[in-house]
Amino acid sequence: MYIVPETAIADILTREAAFDAVENVFAAMAAGDAYNFPVIREAIGHEEALYGFKGGFDGKGKSLGLKAGGYWPHNMERRGLINHQSTVFLFDPDTGKVAAMVGGNLLTALRTAAASSVSIKHLARKDSKVMGMIGAGHQAKFQLRAALETHPFEKVIAWNRSPDRLASLAEVAAEFDLPFEAVTLDGMQAADVVISITSVFSPVFGAAHISDGTHVACMGTDTVGKQECDVDLVAKATVFTDEVAQSVTLGEAQHAIASGARTHDDISEIGAVINGTHSGRSSDREITLFDGTGVGLQDLAVAASIVEIAKAKGIGTEVDF
Ligand code: NAD
Repeated sequence: MYIVPETAIADILTREAAFDAVENVFAAMAAGDAYNFPVIREAIGHEEALYGFKGGFDGKGKSLGLKAGGYWPHNMERRGLINHQSTVFLFDPDTGKVAAMVGGNLLTALRTAAASSVSIKHLARKDSKVMGMIGAGHQAKFQLRAALETHPFEKVIAWNRSPDRLASLAEVAAEFDLPFEAVTLDGMQAADVVISITSVFSPVFGAAHISDGTHVACMGTDTVGKQECDVDLVAKATVFTDEVAQSVTLGEAQHAIASGARTHDDISEIGAVINGTHSGRSSDREITLFDGTGVGLQDLAVAASIVEIAKAKGIGTEVDF
């Protein structure tokens, strides 16, 4: 078994490698070559923790395994550890023998950012100039950095409930020599691409804040009950997702499905656009919405890429297991 600890991931995983792994696995999912297992997520009744497993099998990329972990809300205050903790386990699909154990914390941020970037590459207007961010928490700077590397934006605008946290996004814009402006939610109408990455359970924005022709990546809703945008936007937009089964149950589309504003058949997998079996954006005035729910196969694909690079660079440890 090959072990790549959390502390080594930053030196191994590039955003390009994460992007390629996620783009390839979305394509494999849409082609029917890869599938995710049902997600397990449990409140364990200890430390108020949420713990679970996301797994799957990619028959094309030959990744089999799971990400185990979750959210320990008191880690930071009590132990100085980050609240999200996870580890990826990969297995040899030919034998079932465990093949690798990989730190999953930074991996999660980079694979989530890669998902919205893949959606920007395939769904945003090619003449997009203004990148808009809704939310400025832990994930947001990874999201913004990946978006700015994917497309040549000319300006960044951002909104957060507490505007003082926007400084972290202004720093990312400065890394790319781009102007940065804090805006109201109405100001988000100036954006050509919007990423929302908040942890809210009732909508903070809707169709009134999004202009025609915009691409919106809703990345914050990954659990039953969460909701970042009003159903009116999901009803108005052409909706894409990583996996329809997750989108309609625990993704942003869950509320539009429950209210009857949308049906399963209205939602397409981004992998179909990557594979060319869906034509994607159909006009410059269309609003496209990517419901990024986060699937286990993303974790496995990126972990497999990490193991490959780690072995080539001589980082990590081989253990007889
Ligand atoms: P965080 O706690 O660091 O940041 C939370 C963000 O939500 C902040 O911007 C905060 O201001 C905002 N927020 C919270 N309550 C709000 C309210 N009532 N009104 C307005 N804004 C509010 O969290 P994070 O680690 O950045 O994660 C953000 C979300 O992304 C979470 O819901 C997390 O579960 C989700 N997530 C999704 C994926 C995926 O694959 N789709 C992966 C990782 C995390």
